[in-house]
Amino acid sequence: GLQVVIPNFKLNNGLEIPALGYGTWLGLNEKGEFIVEDAPKLVDALSYAIDVGYRHIDTAHLYRVEPEVGSVVKQKIQEGVVKREDLFITTKVWNSEHRPEDVEKSVKASLRRMGLNYLDLVLMHWPISVSAEGVDEKIDYLDTWSGFESVLKQGLVKAIGVSNFNVEQLTRLLANCQVVPVVNQVEINLNLGQKELVDYCQKNNILVVAYTPFGRMVPSRLDTTCPAIRHDDPIMLDIAKKYGKTVQQVALRYLYQRGICSIPKTLTKTRVVENASIFDFQIDDADVATLREFDNNYRTVRPVFWQNFNNYPFDKVNVDITEIPLSLRKWKNGANLDID
Ligand code: NDP
Repeated sequence: GLQVVIPNFKLNNGLEIPALGYGTWLGLNEKGEFIVEDAPKLVDALSYAIDVGYRHIDTAHLYRVEPEVGSVVKQKIQEGVVKREDLFITTKVWNSEHRPEDVEKSVKASLRRMGLNYLDLVLMHWPISVSAEGVDEKIDYLDTWSGFESVLKQGLVKAIGVSNFNVEQLTRLLANCQVVPVVNQVEINLNLGQKELVDYCQKNNILVVAYTPFGRMVPSRLDTTCPAIRHDDPIMLDIAKKYGKTVQQVALRYLYQRGICSIPKTLTKTRVVENASIFDFQIDDADVATLREFDNNYRTVRPVFWQNFNNYPFDKVNVDITEIPLSLRKWKNGANLDID
């Protein structure tokens, strides 16, 4: 059948990670609740992704789909499509589990929910610590990191990394850690180039993983009230046409050419193939320069409800601070599983 071929990047611990992974965050609805009704579609689309050649899966405790991810992995191993060692599976420790001993509990619970005996990579989801009630716990991420070093030493995970860390936080972590993180997973897309952060990571041999790699450049994320590039931008359509690709493929290819791993999410099978079919063309220097011009420091993911918390990683904006959505605080909020 149809197959995609995805090359690997090398991590600073010698292990390899596929340059493109499958993102599993199903998002929140207008009421701020998890879109749990999409979980069966995730099972179908992820199964298909593994069938066609995806080997890297990005999930998190927060996403509440670890059981689904685990069941698909088990099924694909049983069918003989893959072996466990062919897959690269990442999960994340949520903000409410930042005490060093809670990191171990969280990782063990993720393993149990997924039915796995090791993870390839586990990330600190954010540098901030927030209790289940939504209170700033002010736990130092250096202390949390010692919990990560411990699960690595125990062999529960093959690699440890961070997410949503800024340059200042990474600098402090590198100066005080035993084990250097293998990745920093952050938002990067055409509007948010993150040049300084990417340069810092690459200089220090930390692989950058781009989340929300399309920003708002997909019809489902279109917002005409913000300074973000549209999916029907004429310059993008011209570049895409020149290479016989879609604007989304150009966006992902541009990240790859910058040495950045990306983890687009789609529940649509045609897009599963589309998003991975980016390793057979090269964007030329002139077009790279044009694409770079779209960088205007616009963030799609900006959790302003945390902006006055200790270690909030982004610049603050002048808005009324909204409530933390209940679904980011309480696990049993209409979710389809009793998650701990
Ligand atoms: P993406 O940039 O991956 O965009 C997803 C949206 O784009 C979906 O609506 C999807 O629709 C649509 N889409 C996907 N491919 C195409 C295409 N080829 N053409 C048109 N539309 C397309 O956003 P995410 O925010 O989901 O980020 C990706 C992943 O990154 C997450 O799933 C998660 O794993 C991770 N992440 C991590 C964060 C962190 O804090 N560490 C924060 C946010 C995300 P459809 O599904 O209907 O096809």
